[in-house]
Amino acid sequence: MRSQKERDTAPEVSLRRELRRLGLGYRLHLRAVAGTRREIDIAFPGPRVAVFVDGCFWHGCPDHGSTPGSNSDWWRSKLEANRRRDEDTSRRLEDEDWVVVRVWEHQNMACAASGIAAVLAARRACPRGNADDG
Ligand SMILES: [Zn+2]
Repeated sequence: MRSQKERDTAPEVSLRRELRRLGLGYRLHLRAVAGTRREIDIAFPGPRVAVFVDGCFWHGCPDHGSTPGSNSDWWRSKLEANRRRDEDTSRRLEDEDWVVVRVWEHQNMACAASGIAAVLAARRACPRGNADDG
């Protein structure tokens, strides 16, 4: 099995195609997670929107995530570490005022792309959050 760091997976390529179809420009594999060398799969640096395409197995999708039967303790801790790292990545980005969008590889990528377009539109309308929120 390949590591979760694999780039340009089929679902990721498919989502990128849908984003381009909507006329959205993005940066790939942007290293913008403060204090780490982690990369954002698909980044919109202007409005600070970070998109991750998460594999169902490696990232523990609620529908398709599972722990392999053999060596299951090792797998459980491995997958748990992945989940904690995902949370840590999101938190670091949010601390720097990014909006984080996570897309499961099983999702319909056309729908995911429209959702991302909506996030980008909201972000452009209200940059850096709403100051009136206190
Ligand atoms: Zn899934």
